[in-house]
Amino acid sequence: MHEMSLMESVIAIVCEMAQLNGASAVKSIRLDVGVLSHINPDSLLFCYEAVRRGTIAEHAALEINRIAGEGWCLDCGKTVPLDERFGACPDCGRYQVQATAGDELRIKDMEVI
Ligand SMILES: [Zn+2]
Repeated sequence: MHEMSLMESVIAIVCEMAQLNGASAVKSIRLDVGVLSHINPDSLLFCYEAVRRGTIAEHAALEINRIAGEGWCLDCGKTVPLDERFGACPDCGRYQVQATAGDELRIKDMEVI
C-alpha cells in the first residue's frame, strides 16, 4: 500500500511548513489527487488517520480534490479527456495520447493556527 508512504511524506512536509511558519497546529490540509495516479483516496484517508497521530497535524481536516485526467492526442492535435493513463483518444480511438493532467499528488493548500 504505497498510500502509507505518500501520506507520511505529505504529513512530514505539512508539519515542516507549519513549524517554519511558527504555527502551533495544522487546521486543515487540501490535496489534489489525479484520477490517473493509481492513488486510492479511501486508502489515503485511512493512512492519514494513522500517520497524523502525535504530530501537530493531529486534528487537521483532510480534503481530497480529485483531478480529472487529460491528455494531448498527437493525431488529433488537441487536448482530450483521459480515463486511464495509457487509454485511447476518445475522438480518434488511437493510443497516441500523452497524459498532461490527472497523475498528480499535490498539497494544494493548508491552514494553520
Ligand atoms: Zn485523437
